[in-house]
Amino acid sequence: MSPADTRVTIGRAMCEETPPEPCGMVIFGASGDLVARKLLPALFGLFRRGLLPERFFMLGFARTPMTDDDFRGRVSESILAAHPQGAGQLDDFLALCRYTYGDYDDPAAYTNLALCSSECVMDYHAAENLLFYLALPPHLHAGVVRHLHGAGLTAEGENGSPWRRVVFEKPFGHDLASALELDSRLCSVLRQEQIFRMDHYLGKETVQSILMFRFANAIFEPLWNRGYVDHVQITVAESLGIEHRGAYYDSAGCLRDMFQNHMMQMLALVAMEPPTSFDPERVRDERVKLLHSIRPWTADDMRHWVVRGQYTQGVTAEGASLAGYRHEPRVAEGSTTETYVAARLFIDNWRWQGVPFFLRSGKRMPRKVSEIAVTFRRVPHSMFGMHSKSEMPANVLVLKIQPEEGIDLHIQAKQPGPKSCMATMALAFKYREIFGINPPDAYERLLLDCMLGDRTLFWSREGVEASWRLITPVLDTWCDNPQTSPLHQYTAGTWGPEAAQRMISAAGRQWR
Ligand code: NDP
Repeated sequence: MSPADTRVTIGRAMCEETPPEPCGMVIFGASGDLVARKLLPALFGLFRRGLLPERFFMLGFARTPMTDDDFRGRVSESILAAHPQGAGQLDDFLALCRYTYGDYDDPAAYTNLALCSSECVMDYHAAENLLFYLALPPHLHAGVVRHLHGAGLTAEGENGSPWRRVVFEKPFGHDLASALELDSRLCSVLRQEQIFRMDHYLGKETVQSILMFRFANAIFEPLWNRGYVDHVQITVAESLGIEHRGAYYDSAGCLRDMFQNHMMQMLALVAMEPPTSFDPERVRDERVKLLHSIRPWTADDMRHWVVRGQYTQGVTAEGASLAGYRHEPRVAEGSTTETYVAARLFIDNWRWQGVPFFLRSGKRMPRKVSEIAVTFRRVPHSMFGMHSKSEMPANVLVLKIQPEEGIDLHIQAKQPGPKSCMATMALAFKYREIFGINPPDAYERLLLDCMLGDRTLFWSREGVEASWRLITPVLDTWCDNPQTSPLHQYTAGTWGPEAAQRMISAAGRQWR
């Protein structure tokens, strides 16, 4: 074995990906942004990797009148934009795409859709398994599902064959009450097993690797608790503002857009107990148990330990000027929507009692970064004269989600030179360097799992509910008693409001 061969030993038997059984995919909102930027490139990626079913079709649906050829033109544009270096096999992929249009609330449109999908099943020799993807504004979701049901499109065969599944994009409701209402409307026509609630963060390779890192390595798990961990930081920072999504974002804000879903899932994965197996239900159960263990914020906590902010005009590192949030397109004048949240929380279970978790997410930060940093307790006694115990840097394990996927372990090492000269260095694993490829796009993983019927990486109704139960009181307090937690301003292109710095300093820690 050459030295390079020893770096990665892959368990081949576990690395094979199986293409799903024949099926068709119907995409609602096929004229939209998410479809163009994410879904179409991901489907094409699966196609090129040989992971779409052997017999497959994709039927786009929206209100915009288009012919099949018009739609294929759009598909082609999206894919070429995502693969500027070339998109071999594009024509073969385009041949799988069809389109039909109608109003989302017109029953006749669904009768027509049923006819079109039957035609596709025949033309492409596909089975009658259908995946419906709702890439639509959330207020349309319940109505579309009701109409699909009315047209008989959600009815499955005996023993679930042929299957019918429906994928929902976040947000799953606007608060606890609306999430429960949506869920009861969905459940009146669909079985839980037919519902796939998408959170693209869970499709990221490095997010999935958190579980493998924790539970396939014996060395870290004994340390993964209040005895050895000082605190945990979860950061999701975006350098972008709100782009063209002002109308949506202004009604949502950072707490709904990031905390309720992505941040809570990352927290659950890093803190949950080991499931008894990798079975989807067992993994989802443990995530939900963890969400239930988060201590709700009291009114006093909200005052001191939850900070919200909104960006004002600023400049990029390159000197380009950045508009303030209130001057972004389709944002209400005088908007009080938060574009940044930082919070401290505790998990009330044996493993994590007393360990603070600091979460922060914001737009218009200096750079895009998503990571989870686990800071371990310092050594109990320093024998190196130049450092008192409190000055000794702590070991930090950083799970890097994006942009450079990998894992860093910061340790202290002898620095060449004087006898007690010490330096902090990182043992760094970079996904791209070790495996020689960029990780596949999150949507590829998740679309494949929808077709395979694997719900491990999707939100459960209990998880959605638990997360809203935590978040909704904060939203209510901000609305009813805004003075409890004032909206702080921060300059676009900086790391958020001063108040977030003061918050973590008050807890005796520092943001990384
Ligand atoms: P769009 O605003 O682009 O809407 C998608 C399509 O829905 C539009 O092309 C339009 O198609 C139709 N539509 C839009 N507004 C209305 C309306 N008021 N009434 C009826 N039809 C309407 O949405 P996105 O593609 O950005 O997002 C789709 C879903 O994905 C949303 O739930 C969003 O929250 C979620 N999401 C989006 C992300 C993104 O980056 N874009 C990221 C994560 C989640 P037509 O007029 O042709 O019918």
